[in-house]
Amino acid sequence: MQLMTRPVQATLAQSALRGLACKCPRCGEGKLYDGFITLRPTCAHCGLDYAFIDAGDGPAIFIIMISGAIVVAAALIVEVKYQPPFWLHAALWGPLILATTLLPLRAMKSLLIALQFHHKAAEGQLTFEDKPKDLS
Ligand SMILES: [Zn+2]
Repeated sequence: MQLMTRPVQATLAQSALRGLACKCPRCGEGKLYDGFITLRPTCAHCGLDYAFIDAGDGPAIFIIMISGAIVVAAALIVEVKYQPPFWLHAALWGPLILATTLLPLRAMKSLLIALQFHHKAAEGQLTFEDKPKDLS
């Protein structure tokens, strides 16, 4: 007799850690990316088809908001405290913008993919099961 075993659902923390490590959201072993932010078609370890992934603009929006807050706050603090020349502002904040946007982008995209998988989030679809019943 063959026992049917269902894969154990990962906890939210496990899913988030798999995301931050840029690993497959189902097994946590296979790599998610084939380049900087280019996804592989499937997981090399468990075979999960990555076609369901739809991170959209989510990672970029989070990164923009977080990076913007950090850079603007730092620029305001430096300006108020030291009043440096504008060329120094450009020299300081240009690299900081690049660092705070490009460095966390892979992990943020992977985190949102892992959360999408964990919560089984998908595009909304119409079903006819929700139709009101005929009361006649
Ligand atoms: Zn996998």
